[in-house]
Amino acid sequence: MLERDKIVIRGLHQNNLKNVSLDIPKEKIVVFTGVSGSGKSSIVFDTIAAESQRQMNETYSAFIRGRLPKYEKPKVELIENLSASVIVDQSRLGGNARSTVGTISDLYAALRLLYSRIGTPYVGTASYFSFNDPNGMCMTCSGLGKVTELDISGALKEELSWNEGMVELPAFHPGNWYFKQYVESGLFDPDKKLKDYTEKERNLLFYGAYEKDGERVNKRVEGIHNHLSRLLLKRDTSTSGDTTQKRLETMIHQKECPVCHGRRLNQEVLSCKINGYSIAELCELEFVQLREVLKEIKDERGKTIIQTLIASLTRMIEIGLPYLSMNRESASLSGGEAQRLKLVRYMGSALTGMTYIFDEPSTGMHPRDVHRMTRLLQSLRDKGNTVLVVEHDKDVISIADEVIDVGPLAGRNGGQILFQGSYEALLLSETRTGKAMREQIPLKEKVRLPKAFLPVQKAKLHNLKNISVDIPLNILTVVTGVAGSGKSTLIRDVFAETYSDRVILVDQSPVTATSRSTPATFLGFFDEIRKVMASENQAEASLFSFNSKGACPICGGKGVVVTELVFMDPVTTVCESCEGNRYSEEATSYQYKGKNIVDILNMTVEEALEFFGDNRKISKHIKAMNEVGLSYLSLGQPLSTLSGGERQRIKLAKYLNQKGNIYVLDEPTTGLHASDVKNIMKLLDSFVKRGNTVVVIEHNLDVMKQADYIIDIGPDGGNAGGEVVFTGTPKEMIASANTITAKYLRKSCE
Ligand code: ADP
Ligand code: ADP
Ligand code: ZN
Ligand code: ZN
Repeated sequence: MLERDKIVIRGLHQNNLKNVSLDIPKEKIVVFTGVSGSGKSSIVFDTIAAESQRQMNETYSAFIRGRLPKYEKPKVELIENLSASVIVDQSRLGGNARSTVGTISDLYAALRLLYSRIGTPYVGTASYFSFNDPNGMCMTCSGLGKVTELDISGALKEELSWNEGMVELPAFHPGNWYFKQYVESGLFDPDKKLKDYTEKERNLLFYGAYEKDGERVNKRVEGIHNHLSRLLLKRDTSTSGDTTQKRLETMIHQKECPVCHGRRLNQEVLSCKINGYSIAELCELEFVQLREVLKEIKDERGKTIIQTLIASLTRMIEIGLPYLSMNRESASLSGGEAQRLKLVRYMGSALTGMTYIFDEPSTGMHPRDVHRMTRLLQSLRDKGNTVLVVEHDKDVISIADEVIDVGPLAGRNGGQILFQGSYEALLLSETRTGKAMREQIPLKEKVRLPKAFLPVQKAKLHNLKNISVDIPLNILTVVTGVAGSGKSTLIRDVFAETYSDRVILVDQSPVTATSRSTPATFLGFFDEIRKVMASENQAEASLFSFNSKGACPICGGKGVVVTELVFMDPVTTVCESCEGNRYSEEATSYQYKGKNIVDILNMTVEEALEFFGDNRKISKHIKAMNEVGLSYLSLGQPLSTLSGGERQRIKLAKYLNQKGNIYVLDEPTTGLHASDVKNIMKLLDSFVKRGNTVVVIEHNLDVMKQADYIIDIGPDGGNAGGEVVFTGTPKEMIASANTITAKYLRKSCE
């Protein structure tokens, strides 16, 4: 009999795991550590979460199962004592414009109920307060708060006449179809420059009609504005790839709805108030202020709802989201903010006996806020849940009841359990993690001095308080500040947009590519490999592509065969013909230096470096992968299986040989072990040495210590932030700055 208080895993071979056996205590906080790519997610997500979800799905009827996501059975001999699991990860929240922080957190539902009970004048049921319900929504914008507007001035040249090509779209050029329609209407002088048009002529050109003696005269032209908006707004633009369509898309702008002013609701609903506030006004308040306003409401009939609301808001505030408001569109939240919001939602639930699984919950959090989040993890555990966390942050690791360290390195060089025990024991251990925990990263002594700056002037977006700041060139700048202070707004939305022709944003978002892309195709050296294979064998290069002539004829290059069954889930099996390698027999019959195309794609970067050492066109890319710390990846591993950190590094590999660029990185340490952090800092340093500029948004104190220059945004989050509170070197920050970040940086140097 196996013990019930442990998740028991025997013989685990998922991904890179090497026959791992583990007992994971339940109703405890268990933190998984180890370098990026060592196998933490393979245990926690691909095994425990996947198997638990899979077993839950099996309890449903075939009908429901058909609608649930599919989980593959992990490669494990035995796994026992799982409980129902909840994954709290950093995937973004619903992308639709009707989804707000209020709607997804259920706060808005509670507020609607409150207004339907105690709002005056009394309007109607709770559904009247919903902007997704015809009863409540503003009819002008259908509850979106925004209207789409077309600005055609970009397509018009004021200095030109019809005959000179005044409308810059091909169909309106002299001699073309629409040109003829307009000019032959006799309504316009074909040689009159647009800047000389009268108000009436302009109206006619834009809207095709004008008032004459009080009577509406409809001419024979549609009007350019009407014409273009018909083309653009009433047609599905996503499927059209032509250049006119793309031009047109640059002319649409969203603006605040002129009727509801972004409040999404109709006037009747907005006139219903509690203590002088409409429901929309409450949705505009930051959570801290909203809580104060709610505390002032004394109506007994609303007491329970208000208590629930205040409790939820308090959790939001405690987890470091005091600066959010209910009207914020959920799609605009960062991954870390989304994760914290999900966490708060589960905190409110009364479930026990669950397994909660977190993926780096410290992401996006300033050191100041991390301990508030860890308290929530502890209270989840205290309710009788198992809490599994993948994490690199020391403050989070320190609350673990048990630490499981995976390693020693990444990919094939990892996949083993190196240590399992208490945090205190980890600190004494000789594993990479143990050593990194003990190590003190020193402050950078010799900082590089900037020779020139790029100015950002009077930035006012979101919470920015009309700030001007100079971003130094050719050095490493770290932009810091508590969450919500305005770092991303300043750097991603303002700076990167202003200098968009020179700035390259390197983040952890998925590489926009098909499921068939691999490091070899992404970096562009796969073509070269195919050429080498082709010339060696006097064959066609396309024979070595599984998207083309080289595809296995049975599975069409997919590597798997899907069999549809009438009453059950479709079954996916590895293709028997190619054994999953995707290639035809003919393609694999050719060799180069004794290896066929499949052998080559299975090589790790390390192996390929030796194999292709003499071919510079290939080896320079492989060297770049090696340099960014991806030596363990194979050339053919699908990019869709890479972690966020791995994705970010492969993007860096792509730019490694360039100079004169400005790189902006948003939290590059996400997903990185302390020893990986050292490597990425070395890498960023080499970018600067090659003549590039690097700007990093970070909370990680070790990264700040290694900066040439720090720009600190604050003093706090949301309305309480948006100012530059410090600029200077790390040493100057420690010596003199009086900011939240400075306090934590100072502490970490003690
Ligand atoms: P960690 O969570 O420790 O960063 P992962 O468990 O995500 O590491 O990955 C361990 C190794 O397995 C890495 O080399 C990764 O690239 C590889 N890997 C992850 N998922 C897949 C997959 N679906 N197919 C092949 N390799 C994978
Ligand atoms: P940081 O990067 O320092 O965490 P952000 O720049 O993301 O901070 O946020 C600064 C402020 O701007 C916060 O109050 C945040 O709620 C607000 N904000 C950020 N993005 C948006 C957005 N897309 N729409 C409205 N407000 C936003
Ligand atoms: Zn409106
Ligand atoms: Zn096949």
